[in-house]
Amino acid sequence: MITVQARATFSPEGPFRLTTIERRDLQPHDVLIEIKYAGICHSDIHTARGEWGPVQYPLVPGHEIAGIVTQVGSEVTKYAVGDRVGVGCMVDSCRECVNCRKGEEQYCLHGNTGTYAAIDRYGQYTQGGYSTHIVVTEDFVVRIPDGLAFDVAAPLLCAGITTYSPLRHWGAAPGKKVAVVGLGGLGHMAVKLAHAMGAEVTVLSQSLKKKEDGLRLGADHYYATSDPETFKKLAGSFDLIVNTVSAKIDLDAYLSLLALDGTLVNVGAPADPLSVNVFSLIGHRRSFAGSMIGGIRETQEMLDFCAEHRIAPEIEVISADRIDEAWERVLKSDVRYRFVIDIGTMGKE
Ligand code: NAP
Ligand code: ZN
Ligand code: ZN
Repeated sequence: MITVQARATFSPEGPFRLTTIERRDLQPHDVLIEIKYAGICHSDIHTARGEWGPVQYPLVPGHEIAGIVTQVGSEVTKYAVGDRVGVGCMVDSCRECVNCRKGEEQYCLHGNTGTYAAIDRYGQYTQGGYSTHIVVTEDFVVRIPDGLAFDVAAPLLCAGITTYSPLRHWGAAPGKKVAVVGLGGLGHMAVKLAHAMGAEVTVLSQSLKKKEDGLRLGADHYYATSDPETFKKLAGSFDLIVNTVSAKIDLDAYLSLLALDGTLVNVGAPADPLSVNVFSLIGHRRSFAGSMIGGIRETQEMLDFCAEHRIAPEIEVISADRIDEAWERVLKSDVRYRFVIDIGTMGKE
């Protein structure tokens, strides 16, 4: 076992404390990664607070991981010591089922292995990226292109791919009108990516507080959902709506904004069920869909797309002793637009 430093929460309420965890010894196809930066995703909060179901403590969250390969197993072929790499929300899957074979490992029929709070094939409880090192099989590691710095690369491993995948799947492109609900970590990436794909982009945020930012990030229009006029004015106008909101919203109101054959895809994952009135769908042959992260191949494609289009998240780098404070700010929608932990500060008290 390899003993490494980490920040863990010991109960749903926290706080985070410096601790040590064990990583497995390198198996033939494993790489050891020295983590440089780890992003803070709202899913870390949902999971650690038990909102999606009970989890085991201590828990080290973090599934937006960027770092350097420092050791490789005897049969590793894809990576070498010194390579710049990333790890996202999953670290394994069965690799044999029909979905895995398609490169959609996130939809593995046997369930993918989450980067944290899951039991891996060795029977070990997985611990995430709020940590100095991680051991991952090479097939679940992606390469960070040279043009992307580690700190901005980290959030792409979840916020980036989770928005890139549905935008590609539902064909965001020139001539398409795309709305993004919620301008947080995922939302701001959705705006940048949809803009880069050539779509006409509208932000639907709770208020106009972040309007200047939204337009600068690439949105063509920006509306406050607290204003009932927004729903009248935009009725029937979008081909695709990407809902990134972490809380329950009135889906019927948003579905009314879709054009004929439009789709509202939910990537936001609130614990409470969302209800839909079927008349919101059947009236204009609309669809309500969901999407979860993206496969490994698509994650690499997204990173290369971001490097090529010079797309990077807007981040606020924090030291490891400030995770609790950052989480509170995420919960207040006070994030511009992703917190990223500088893992070099891990030992700081
Ligand atoms: P985030 O940074 O907190 O952003 C969420 C945004 O939603 C906020 O910035 C806010 O935007 C809006 N919002 C929050 N509470 C709201 C409320 N009560 N009513 C209306 N709008 C509200 O979170 P994130 O990291 O982007 O994650 C967003 C959600 O996606 C979370 O539920 C997360 O678990 C989920 N997620 C899913 C996947 C997947 O694979 N499907 C992957 C990653 C994350 P405004 O201030 O602009 O209104
Ligand atoms: Zn995430
Ligand atoms: Zn599978």
